[in-house]
Amino acid sequence: MTTSDANIFSSGLFGFLKRFNSLKTKILAVTLIACATALSLQVVAIIGYELVSYRDSVITERANLARLVGANMGAAILFEDDETLKDDINVFAQAPEIRAAYVFSASGRLLSSYVSRDFTEPSTPAPLAGDASAEVIAETREGIYIRTPIIIDGENIGSLQILSGQDKLRETIRRYLMIAGLVLLTAIFIAYIIADKSAQVMARPLERLLGTMDHVRNTRNYATHAEKLGDDEFGRLTDAFNAMLNEIQHRDETLEETVDNRTAELMKEKEKAEAASRAKSEFLANMSHEIRTPMNGILGMTELLLETALDAKQHELASVVMSSGNGLLAIINDVLDFSKIEAGKFTLRPAPFNLRDVVEETGALVSSRILEKDLELLIRYDPNLPAGFVGDGPRLRQVITNLLGNAIKFTESGQILIEVEGDVQGGNVAVRFSVEDTGIGIAQDKIDKMFEKFEQADTSTTRRYEGTGLGLAISKSIVNLMGGEIGARSELGRGSTFWFTVEMPIDLSVPNVLDREVAHLEGRRLLIVDDNEVNRRILLELTQSWGIVADAAASAHEALHLLKDPIRRKSRYDIIISDCQMPRIDGEELARRIRDDDHYAAVPIIMLSSVCERTAVETMVGDYIDAWLTKPIRAAQLQREICKLIVSGRIADMRAAAAQKLESDQITAATRAPADRAKILLAEDNIVNQMVFTKMLNAAEFEIVIAGNGRIAVEKFLDFNPDFVVMDVSMPEMDGMQATREIRRLEALRKLPRTPIIAMTAHAMEEDQRKCLDAGMDDYMSKPIKLEKVKALVEKWRARIGKAA
Ligand code: ADP
Repeated sequence: MTTSDANIFSSGLFGFLKRFNSLKTKILAVTLIACATALSLQVVAIIGYELVSYRDSVITERANLARLVGANMGAAILFEDDETLKDDINVFAQAPEIRAAYVFSASGRLLSSYVSRDFTEPSTPAPLAGDASAEVIAETREGIYIRTPIIIDGENIGSLQILSGQDKLRETIRRYLMIAGLVLLTAIFIAYIIADKSAQVMARPLERLLGTMDHVRNTRNYATHAEKLGDDEFGRLTDAFNAMLNEIQHRDETLEETVDNRTAELMKEKEKAEAASRAKSEFLANMSHEIRTPMNGILGMTELLLETALDAKQHELASVVMSSGNGLLAIINDVLDFSKIEAGKFTLRPAPFNLRDVVEETGALVSSRILEKDLELLIRYDPNLPAGFVGDGPRLRQVITNLLGNAIKFTESGQILIEVEGDVQGGNVAVRFSVEDTGIGIAQDKIDKMFEKFEQADTSTTRRYEGTGLGLAISKSIVNLMGGEIGARSELGRGSTFWFTVEMPIDLSVPNVLDREVAHLEGRRLLIVDDNEVNRRILLELTQSWGIVADAAASAHEALHLLKDPIRRKSRYDIIISDCQMPRIDGEELARRIRDDDHYAAVPIIMLSSVCERTAVETMVGDYIDAWLTKPIRAAQLQREICKLIVSGRIADMRAAAAQKLESDQITAATRAPADRAKILLAEDNIVNQMVFTKMLNAAEFEIVIAGNGRIAVEKFLDFNPDFVVMDVSMPEMDGMQATREIRRLEALRKLPRTPIIAMTAHAMEEDQRKCLDAGMDDYMSKPIKLEKVKALVEKWRARIGKAA
């Protein structure tokens, strides 16, 4: 075998072995192949040797036989005695191996022949070529030819040629092969058993190692160790593996320790950070409290100052103080909210509330700014939407206020429309709010960014609009907390629409005041006059939802035209609502012209004022108009006015009465018996606040007793027996909470009726409101106190105790 042969063989063998996946099988295969090869080579060598020796012995034996028989034939050849020759040659019939025998003369002529029965002679028998005096042997397909010379007295007289068959040889080979095959099989079988055992012994440590590896991988238990079964290569492999496990375990332990240490450090840092955040929140809360108290004084006093007789310059200066103060307060509130959102402490407090009120009140609160900027504010509350919902009303109000505030801030002319719509599905409504303005708009690529904190569209140092950039970020957080979405559409220079959606359950326990009067309004005829198309649409939709049959006119001119229409004259309008400020003929002039028409001289007219000065409209009451409402119109107010005017019927009298109203109001207030005045106990330690509060309320209508702390408040409560108590929360000696609990305890003890207690506090946190209510208070007013707020609250409670003005 050459080197290249050996290479081919070994690569072939490796290729073959690669097919087996188990080491054991590989060992087995290698052993068996080696064994089989060795044995086969051995068998081949033995058989080869045996055959060669067997053939030699057969030839020698046949040659001897030929020589012996040949020697006997000498005389018969000499005497040409064919008979004897025939007898002599037929002696081969006794030797079955001899297939044929021929006697040739010295010249090669066939003298006699013998052919066994089962042998077919080849064509013409001829003596083998070669030295005639020597023995010649030749092997052919038929068998082995042996020619032996017949010599008498040294003379070659002829030859005897025999053909010996090879059947015996073949038989012998067959037997040899059979035996060799059996030996081979037995040997391979024994080799298999031995190889199998040894393969097992060799593979066992490796299998154990693999088992341990699997176990470690599955359990991740690096404390496990592989069992060492010997000092051979496998033993060394096991040692190396165990050493590796030890290393991993050690590393894990140190890692765990490091992680534990780091976690502990991080926990410490986290606690520190939380403590810092708490401290920040508390600091902000305290700061806001501290800032709100003096702000209370500043804003309250400025508001009062603005109500006094000031010259133009003084009024302007005081107005600036007022608006700056309000701005500062808004920023403080934003910062406070934002810090709460950041600290994750911003939570919602869902409760039943009146959504329509929230939206309309928000509109009412900005009416002065709307007036200042000569804008028009319109509110459309989908008449199909209920008013009562369960949700966090104050937070919704905050979002709407923010969007509305922005709309006013960024709009120089035109109008702002607040729309609230929704689809009622079962007990829930996905309410969609939108605030649309005709302001400066926002560039398309900046819209989404506006909802991120501290983002503003105009960041140039010369920007015209103030702001912190927190409003929309806070709104977004609130809306998201409510599970809703917020977004905006805008076009530079054409205005923006900010919208948000919130899904809320309907609350039927919140009464819908609008349903109460509908019976009186069904089928009544109304004419709406307004140059603002959107407002006409809103008023039409609203009044039609009450069953009123309404027409709308876009101008006074159109209205007069409708009023003169003979067909409409027959069924007469029951009431007319007109905008005050309209181009060409304004509301006042229209009212005057209507009164000139005998047919409509007594029709009730409600005037809507937005830009027109309140006082200017007020003076019209009685002369030309029957009532006035400021825009944005509050649905309940409008309904109430319409009902009042329609149901009373005596319009002329009413007008006369209305003319005297102001006068009589003053008289009533002045002459009201002290017993009719509402008695208020004000518990407040701050002198500025005491002054602000008492000055805000008309002394003719209220009797106010002041207590400088909680303890005095409790004493005075018993002496003075107030109709209701306004209670500051933080006071020296005894705070508002304790005083309230004490009052409630005394009431229970003496079986007194429950006196309403209204909390008044500079604490702006939501929890404070809850704490107040938990302490037994009935209502809540946050500082700085504002004229409108105080009046509204006091009126509310005065109405409840039945001492309404
Ligand atoms: P602030 O008004 O205090 O700056 P906001 O978060 O409320 O903060 O608003 C962020 C910015 O979004 C504003 O500075 C303004 O650039 C833009 N923006 C908000 N509302 C409007 C709007 N109605 N019209 C135009 N731009 C607006």
